[in-house]
Amino acid sequence: MNSQALPRGGRNAVKEDIVSLPLQQLQQALADLGQPPYRAKQLFGWLHARRAQSFDDMNNLPAALRAKLAASWRMEQPDVVRRLQSADGTEKLLLRLHDGHTIETVVMRYHHGVSLCVSSQVGCRMGCTFCASGHAAFVRSLSAGEMAAQLYTAEALAGERIDHLVLMGIGEPLDNFDNVMDFIAIVTDEAGADLSMRNISLSTCGLVPMIEKLAERKLGLTLSVSLHAANDATRSRLMPVNKAYPLARLMAACRAYREKTGRRVSYEYALVAGQNDADTDADALADLLRGTDGHVNLIPVNPVLGLPATASDAGRTAAFAARLKARGVNATVRRRLGADIDAACGQLRLQEAGRIPEDTVAAYL
Ligand code: SAH
Repeated sequence: MNSQALPRGGRNAVKEDIVSLPLQQLQQALADLGQPPYRAKQLFGWLHARRAQSFDDMNNLPAALRAKLAASWRMEQPDVVRRLQSADGTEKLLLRLHDGHTIETVVMRYHHGVSLCVSSQVGCRMGCTFCASGHAAFVRSLSAGEMAAQLYTAEALAGERIDHLVLMGIGEPLDNFDNVMDFIAIVTDEAGADLSMRNISLSTCGLVPMIEKLAERKLGLTLSVSLHAANDATRSRLMPVNKAYPLARLMAACRAYREKTGRRVSYEYALVAGQNDADTDADALADLLRGTDGHVNLIPVNPVLGLPATASDAGRTAAFAARLKARGVNATVRRRLGADIDAACGQLRLQEAGRIPEDTVAAYL
């Protein structure tokens, strides 16, 4: 870390958020305070393994150091505004951040463990037509600490260890590249939550230069690309990002990613009735993915009130999946979790912002 990250002091200094620092940066910050490296490890453990609520809790750090830290750094936890529990075990939390903005995080229970869907931004700039997140104004990106706090808050409330993370909540993670990289470094650190990189998925709408940048990091996580269409006309209609990075460029970036990292790319495809779910769409998708060993997750689009997308019915969904499989594409239809609690990202936040009145949503479900 450079000296910029330390506040200069004085009455109006804005304190930096200490929870956002990966261990290496914390070591640098403590070295700047004349502290030995083991202190950084202790502090990191307090923040990310023991999840201390304040510097005062850190009772194996000297009081003078705690006071120094508290003078220069802030650490705060989000408030839990709402906690919704679905009949299928899915839980959704609406969290209020220190500046009053709200984000969502979703706990999903699978047979292989517990997974958390993490938000990376307050709002989203990508504007996908079927997605609730892009329909409230984009406010800002989240810090690494605010992403980690989603995990810590969810684990504390759920009372169990969460061992999988999907960066599939509100926001476009690759539009917040540096903070997302710090977040991943923090939660995979063995002195912190110690998550396995293999258990982390990062989902992107297809920001090609950022996919290329991610490939350079050679992380063992799973890259998941939101395709949702196999031709440029349909994809540009559903996802404006396609106008900047059309399918040919996106697929080239995915192939390069596969080669550089040795990791299979997975593809998300939300089935929207009458828009991307015809047999010809399945054939085009099979053609697009020929020669890749990517896996396709099919999901009937989660209808968001006021947005022009209706889910394909079960018969169409099954026929689409069968057609892909017959053409050698590895595809699974994903179970919809938490539909009864508006688990699709961004919906609860929209309600909270008053964009969709709550009783309307309740009546609609
Ligand atoms: N911005 C990233 C991650 C957030 S969205 C991305 O685009 O991948 C996570 C996934 O949910 C994406 O595949 C997104 O396209 C999908 N999604 C958004 N709204 C949806 C909806 N109403 N129904 C089904 N999937 C949706």
